[in-house]
Amino acid sequence: MRRFLLVILVAAMLLPGGADAAKKLRIVTTIPDLADITRNVGGDFVDVASLATGVEDIHAVPMKPSFAVLLNRADAVVLMGLEAEHAFLPALLEASRNPKIQRDMPGYIDCSIYVTPLEAPTRLDRSLGDVHPMGNPHFNLDPVNGRHIVRAIVDGLSRLDPEHAPVFQKNGDAYKAKLDEAIVRWQREAAPLKGKKIVTYHPDMIYFAERFGMIQFGTIEIRPGVDPTPAHVAELIERMRQAKVEIVIRELHYPAGLAETVAKSTGAKLVELPAMVRGVPEAKDYIALIDYNVRTLVKAVTGGSAALLVPSSTP
Ligand SMILES: [Zn+2]
Repeated sequence: MRRFLLVILVAAMLLPGGADAAKKLRIVTTIPDLADITRNVGGDFVDVASLATGVEDIHAVPMKPSFAVLLNRADAVVLMGLEAEHAFLPALLEASRNPKIQRDMPGYIDCSIYVTPLEAPTRLDRSLGDVHPMGNPHFNLDPVNGRHIVRAIVDGLSRLDPEHAPVFQKNGDAYKAKLDEAIVRWQREAAPLKGKKIVTYHPDMIYFAERFGMIQFGTIEIRPGVDPTPAHVAELIERMRQAKVEIVIRELHYPAGLAETVAKSTGAKLVELPAMVRGVPEAKDYIALIDYNVRTLVKAVTGGSAALLVPSSTP
């Protein structure tokens, strides 16, 4: 193995341009949203891999032995933070035996640092099984927080590769400009969502709801990460009927049956949404994910007006 590495190293040094290729930062992100944004910021100077594929629950990504290997070789790990990855990342970081990417090291890029968390608790407490002990970590679903993610990644990459910091800054600014343009469009498209009450399975959608004027009425779960009981569901259905809640959202990594029952019992429309990039094939990158969620909800609320479903790539 050591000889093999040596051969590669020597080959890289001998090949023209090989030294540059060897200098690419190896980045591992927890979710595909962060991989997409890291690629946009890092350009040619990064190799990026994501642990989750996009269909998982961020609080329960199944661990694979290959993850520890990836992390062992990484220059940085890019994560959501706010303990979103608590179920798998701390154990993987330990297994990686890579001192560069441990918490508080330069290779630990926490994308929550510029985000103001919603539902921040007054005290840190996991005793009730709550998987959001630092506040709600699903900030990726509000595109304005996408800007904060870009900033944290520009900081992180610049810290690790100061020589290319101006490139990361420029790429980050260009991506933010693209995002800003899309945000203006989403604000316009999402007008029919204003004031609509939603019930979700888990509180994944609160940042999105706040951005686009929707009201998070309740969740099918009792608390974040705590499964529903029949009594909780019965009470939720009763309250939803009284408040005339029109939308039930099932984030695609949660079971379908209960969300269907709640929607059927209250006459609400059931909407299925991804919580991450690649959660559905259409959500191929971060901008496409927000596009998909805005358009799918608008379609549900307006009864599917075709004019609102023009793909974003159409000028
Ligand atoms: Zn959560």
